[in-house]
Amino acid sequence: MIPDDDFITHENVPGPTKEEIRCIVMCKSNVSQNDIVVDIGCGTGGLTLEFAKRSRLVYAVDRSIDALNTTEKNLKKHNLDKKVQLIHDDALKALKNIETIDILMIGGSGGDLPLLIEEGYKKLVQNGKIIVTSILLETPVEAVETMKELNMDIDVVDISISKGLIMKRGTMMIARNPITIVTGKK
Ligand code: SAH
Repeated sequence: MIPDDDFITHENVPGPTKEEIRCIVMCKSNVSQNDIVVDIGCGTGGLTLEFAKRSRLVYAVDRSIDALNTTEKNLKKHNLDKKVQLIHDDALKALKNIETIDILMIGGSGGDLPLLIEEGYKKLVQNGKIIVTSILLETPVEAVETMKELNMDIDVVDISISKGLIMKRGTMMIARNPITIVTGKK
């Protein structure tokens, strides 16, 4: 995994997804060398870079130009830019133009989550996965409801991580925001 502080960041762009969360997302995705991945809401590129190292091709989509520029800088920094196609567009429009998907990662939806899952599902290969990461309470509920209607095989995990801050008098555990990861398999 790429350490969190190896990413170039931008004040207006969220991310990168923290290392331990990236780790679990990679695990749940079961990504492999032949896969085509779509990363909706690539932000800083945290997940895009990890997928790029492990797959055939990643389409990284974001409607924010600052996000795309930041992801591009990080891809170049880690020599992964050849593996990624950057798309500056709204997620739903971008998805309509992509034919086949092995893994659809949704890290930002801007209120369009059910539609994104439904559109992504049409393009998803059999046994392909849709992964939704969220910091909002409502998002996983919406994801599960939509995936249920599509008869997907659903897995939900809630992750709360604390990281140790090493100090002279001891190690202080500092809590990070809880994240929910919903994975649906077709
Ligand atoms: N996973 C990223 C962080 C994602 S932050 C990382 O590890 O670095 C979420 C991103 O989703 C933001 O950059 C936001 O611009 C984007 N986003 C939200 N809704 C979107 C939509 N409907 N279409 C395209 N991008 C969207």
